[in-house]
Amino acid sequence: MAVLNEEQSMLRDAAKSWVQEKSPVTAFRKMRDSGVELGYDAAAWNEQAEMGWAGVIIPEDFGGSNFGYLSMGLILEEMGRTLTASPLLASGLAAASALILGGDDAQKGEYLPKIADGSLVATLAVDEGAHHAPEKVALEAKKSGAGYTLNGKKTFVLEGPGAGLLIVSARTSGKPGDKDGISLFLVPADAKGVTKQNLKQADSRGVSNISFDNVEVSADALLGAEGKGWDVLEATLDRARAGVAAEMLGAAVQAFETTLDYLKVRVQFGQVIGSFQALQHRAAKMFTDLELARSAVEAALAAIDAGSPDVPELVSLAKAKMGDVFHLVSNEMVQMHGGIGMTDAHDAGFYLKRARAAEAAYGSQSYHRDRYARIQGY
Ligand SMILES: Cc1cc2nc3c(=O)[nH]c(=O)nc-3n(C[C@H](O)[C@H](O)[C@H](O)COP(=O)(O)OP(=O)(O)OC[C@H]3O[C@@H](n4cnc5c(N)ncnc54)[C@H](O)[C@@H]3O)c2cc1C
Repeated sequence: MAVLNEEQSMLRDAAKSWVQEKSPVTAFRKMRDSGVELGYDAAAWNEQAEMGWAGVIIPEDFGGSNFGYLSMGLILEEMGRTLTASPLLASGLAAASALILGGDDAQKGEYLPKIADGSLVATLAVDEGAHHAPEKVALEAKKSGAGYTLNGKKTFVLEGPGAGLLIVSARTSGKPGDKDGISLFLVPADAKGVTKQNLKQADSRGVSNISFDNVEVSADALLGAEGKGWDVLEATLDRARAGVAAEMLGAAVQAFETTLDYLKVRVQFGQVIGSFQALQHRAAKMFTDLELARSAVEAALAAIDAGSPDVPELVSLAKAKMGDVFHLVSNEMVQMHGGIGMTDAHDAGFYLKRARAAEAAYGSQSYHRDRYARIQGY
């Protein structure tokens, strides 16, 4: 377990108590039942922003607290425990990272303070097909007049329904699959020619498929150098992947603890079922897998804060391992709760659905195993 400084301990404790008091799983259930299109509770998001969470990685000059990625991970882990649906990851982590890594002072000055105070939700619009493949950019950005014209589509844009700013990867040269020729653009979601089709993921959170039809942006919408957006995009995605892995860790730990509690009270054949060795072995496997996953997730977050060259491999290791472990623990939660785990009245299904959606976010286990192997030169 990571050694935390005083600031980080206080942040984690504050997050823990807010989440437990204000955002238990019953709040998620209420949001789900209400069918709200955003896929999160706007009032709860305001409270998160008021506590400064949306500005945790943002420099102080731009309205944030600059506490870093491990600190952000601690908050996301606590939110994961109760499945708190929030644009924190997409906006305060992913989009903010893109601006910090690739933006000039004018772009940072315009957008980061609004992201930090929660008044603007921003998100990355990266993928175009059924699977995460950030280099397969076909959406075209052609130079026109003093700016660019965008044509194409994006799929599964996380928090798309609530987003006011889209950070869009586009192709200014080359062909889908080339890393060279990718450029990033800051596109207001209400720009002429942007059409959102809002969808609900299996976990009831909001995503959008978005089409761009002759969307005109000025030259200052370009984030970083033209055709050289890949390095910023990849580094941004790695930060987002580490963040989602932290949230998955919290959810998986909670799913495990809830299941363990049940094994200690459910009586069958005159004994608590936790007394059966077959179930004890399964619980022990989950416990050790969760400890390994925690080490991988914390190592990835700490490497980002330290500016380590190992970030890509550590992030892929963490996302792949965490995906496998959350998959296992959420399955076991349903199974070990017997028939009740299958019903909607019990929370187990929520954890299983969150696992499946989070596994796919910013690259599945197979995507990250493959990437890890390539980095290692297999
Ligand atoms: C949506 C739904 C549909 C259903 N459809 C059907 C149906 O079509 N037909 C039907 O007959 N029933 C059906 N059921 C009922 C369902 O099969 C039972 O609820 C199921 O058998 C689970 O029983 P339980 O809740 O008593 O779980 P428990 O018996 O309490 O089991 C809890 C967990 O402990 C494990 N366990 C229990 N005892 C032991 C032991 N001695 N050693 C090791 N592990 C143990 C179990 O495998 C499970 O993982 C349905 C239930 C639901 C919710």
